[in-house]
Amino acid sequence: MSKHVTHWIDGKPFGGVADRQGDIFDPATGQVTGQVDFADVAIVDEAVAAANAGFAEWRHASLTKRTQVLFKFRELLNERKGEIAELITAEHGKVLSDALGEVTRGQEVVEFACGIPHLLKGGFSESVSTRVDVYSIRQPLGVVGIISPFNFPAMVPMWFFPIAIAAGNAVIVKPSEKDPSAANYMAELWAEAGLPAGVFNVVHGDKVAVDRLLEHPDVKALSFVGSTPIARYVYETGTKNGKRVQALGGAKNHMLVLPDADLDLAADQAINAGFGSAGERCMAISALIAVDSIADELVAKISDRIATLRTGDGRRGSDMGPLVTGQHRDKVTGYVAAGVDEGATLVVDGRDVEPDGDAAGFWLGPTLFDNVTPDMSIYTDEIFGPVLSVVRVHSFDEGLKLINDHPYGNGTAIFTNDGGAARRFQNEVEVGMVGVNVPIPVPMAYYSFGGWKNSLFGDTHAHGQEGVHFYTRGKVVTSRWLDPSHGGINLGFPQNV
Ligand code: NAD
Repeated sequence: MSKHVTHWIDGKPFGGVADRQGDIFDPATGQVTGQVDFADVAIVDEAVAAANAGFAEWRHASLTKRTQVLFKFRELLNERKGEIAELITAEHGKVLSDALGEVTRGQEVVEFACGIPHLLKGGFSESVSTRVDVYSIRQPLGVVGIISPFNFPAMVPMWFFPIAIAAGNAVIVKPSEKDPSAANYMAELWAEAGLPAGVFNVVHGDKVAVDRLLEHPDVKALSFVGSTPIARYVYETGTKNGKRVQALGGAKNHMLVLPDADLDLAADQAINAGFGSAGERCMAISALIAVDSIADELVAKISDRIATLRTGDGRRGSDMGPLVTGQHRDKVTGYVAAGVDEGATLVVDGRDVEPDGDAAGFWLGPTLFDNVTPDMSIYTDEIFGPVLSVVRVHSFDEGLKLINDHPYGNGTAIFTNDGGAARRFQNEVEVGMVGVNVPIPVPMAYYSFGGWKNSLFGDTHAHGQEGVHFYTRGKVVTSRWLDPSHGGINLGFPQNV
């Protein structure tokens, strides 16, 4: 039976009829499995009104009450993460173990947010002047929007909403229209956890919904994750409209392998980071920079490992699933053709894959290019598919320069056994998240996630203390109490005595 995914507003599914809808696909079969409603301006306005009403109550909920709801949400999420993973695999295509992994990483942010009483503690200075104390507090912003990409339908919204809600805000999530079901499932968990209606809302849709969130005066902040052109647009439009915006964009992550590296470790990790989730991760490795003589051996090791990978339906225990849509698969195969035309050596051609799945699925197997040069489109562009490009360089410095010259700066990794080289790399590389013998250095929830250059617009990264800061604003109180004496009238600027 075809499913119907609609908005979640004011603690319940939206009752109205949508003028516009989008198809939801099962990428492993290529079939349409349902429709998702697309919000128009009036529906977004309804969600904002519900969120405003929810905020008016929730901002006064005690920290004890808020943490009780968060703990309950965490328990429900933990119990039912298998169900969320199944929804993700059915709409995104990533294999079940990977889908479960993303829910678990999102859950870590919920666990971090359970510590909100500690995270919101301000400072207090007694007797800054005679009988005068000063203290700082952080307060919620109001209604905040979260616009998320297709590739992590559970984890990316969870980078933001646990902290936003814990800090006392009300949230509107606008998930990717390609895999909308996980957000609704999480909305149901919030309701079951006892979150008041209106504090967590989901509106589905496309640019129309995003644009309304960008211009609505009652939306105070926006967290966006997606491709760089849209991230730039959201940042520029949102800030022009007076909103606080953090907009995380695309990526082209490099892995620098030095001659002294453990080549088996490097080959294993290149496979994991290059082809996990079919390369549809913003922290995927897509460019492997091999220094000097090791390139031949490393390419051989990676190609041997690719031969052992099983591409197929994510419900059948495959290593790698399909791409998210037929259109995206065609875009990625277009890059493979361009790489061949531009003169790169195609070592493994994923277009030849024989998948364990329906022939109509959106398949492309792991693809490996060697002798890629920095002018080729497979090097310059974010491909967002299972295509790994090996670039050969002669020195550490040449490799570092390549990474620093690239316009993206999300994640990177160095593979070496030389501590001095690793230290110089982490010090000089112009990238926001760095791995040393770790290929996908996604920070834990209590650190902050974010790239540099074209990979992030705004100055605040996701989760950790920066997330708490983003979703609150500071206030400083100067108070004098019960001192019957006073200094009388004095029009001079206040000074402390
Ligand atoms: P996308 O930019 O196409 O879509 C992201 C969101 O923006 C979706 O909710 C979508 O509905 C909305 N959107 C699409 N077109 C829009 C428009 N014209 N105006 C306003 N809103 C619009 O991205 P995607 O294809 O869903 O996700 C993949 C991209 O996300 C990749 O570039 C990837 O690197 C990036 N990403 C980045 C991070 C990060 O942390 N930096 C994390 C995950 C994904």
